[in-house]
Amino acid sequence: MSEKELSDKVKKLNLEFKIFEVPSWSTFKPEVAIKDGIEYNKKIGSNIIYMNNGEDFVCLDCDSEILAIEVAHPIHDGPFPMSGSGKCEYEQVPYCPTCEEKPNYNGSPISEKRIQNLQC
Ligand SMILES: [Zn+2]
Repeated sequence: MSEKELSDKVKKLNLEFKIFEVPSWSTFKPEVAIKDGIEYNKKIGSNIIYMNNGEDFVCLDCDSEILAIEVAHPIHDGPFPMSGSGKCEYEQVPYCPTCEEKPNYNGSPISEKRIQNLQC
């Protein structure tokens, strides 16, 4: 399927994507659209759209079933930069096995101090 066909398909659907609030360290920053009771998700800045068919998410472009990889975000809550308890926060990151590259297992570190500073 060519890119033109995809954009026509997407144009026809006339989806209005809204940014979904997630923490800044998240790998998957989704945009969500709902049309005729069907939920569509995509990554911000991506043209690959995942459609919920009632059971699973499928790729709007190639009809592949969307897979998810678990990405680990190390929590840096120790007193020094890059130090911490060694705990991780896990995040499920969806991707199309045909159209997209598998996301990296190693996610962005979560710095508790930085999060607090940002709130000041
Ligand atoms: Zn695909």
